[in-house]
Amino acid sequence: MPEGPEIHIEADIIRKAIGGTSCRYIHFFHEHLKPFEKALSDTKVETVEAYGKGLVIGFEGDTYIYSHNQLYGKWYITQAGEYPRTSRSLRLEIQNEHMSALLYSASEIEVLQADSITRHPYLSTIGPDVIRCENTQLVLRQLRSDLFRNRSFSALLLDQRFLAGVGNYLRSEILHHAGVHPLTKPALLSEQQLTKIAESALLISQRAYLNNGITNEDALVARAKKAGLTRRDYRHLVFGREQKPCYQCGGIIEKDRMGGRRIYICNICQKE
Ligand SMILES: [Zn+2]
Repeated sequence: MPEGPEIHIEADIIRKAIGGTSCRYIHFFHEHLKPFEKALSDTKVETVEAYGKGLVIGFEGDTYIYSHNQLYGKWYITQAGEYPRTSRSLRLEIQNEHMSALLYSASEIEVLQADSITRHPYLSTIGPDVIRCENTQLVLRQLRSDLFRNRSFSALLLDQRFLAGVGNYLRSEILHHAGVHPLTKPALLSEQQLTKIAESALLISQRAYLNNGITNEDALVARAKKAGLTRRDYRHLVFGREQKPCYQCGGIIEKDRMGGRRIYICNICQKE
């Protein structure tokens, strides 16, 4: 499933294609959304924003299309009226004079008004968005909250109510960068350690957003490329690198399962 960085990158691409222009043609696959086709035609697309793993396209007149890709949803951008070769099924099409934004196979598409956004089961319950946060203040508030402070990081970092946009690869990467073991809880950490994990959560997520999914720092990536390593080798600190040496300490990275999802740990950098 795409995580926050990927959804924010997707929002940027969709915004570039159809943002600020009038929608010439709109098509919904779902019968119950068909009535909105007429209402949204010839209406300007004002905003395209990611919220955690959800995407919201705002139209003139305070009408919004919310979508969540879940496992299979995928956006394509094409020249107006053209379609990609894919076996996926088209769920939503928004076309302006020049471009089409096409959403395939997403299971969640809704049309909302401004007031229903504030009651929306996903949008109204998610925590601070890690790509959007400008400082660690909101993240520290979550870490100190009674709601979260006694749960393990392995569970917290998959809970969108804790931090929106963090998913499975970011969970392993943030914890390794902060030097925190996934079974530790916020309540067991010092203020200094809490600050470190809050900083890592933002730094790693925002780096992935700016560097197309890469979570390692630029200098390491440059060295790795020079040495002939592939993206698979240098993309992440630990995720997907089981039995390979940790870039920081040389220890062997181990793969485990927590919360039903794979997780990667360096037991030297991340002591329990
Ligand atoms: Zn290590």
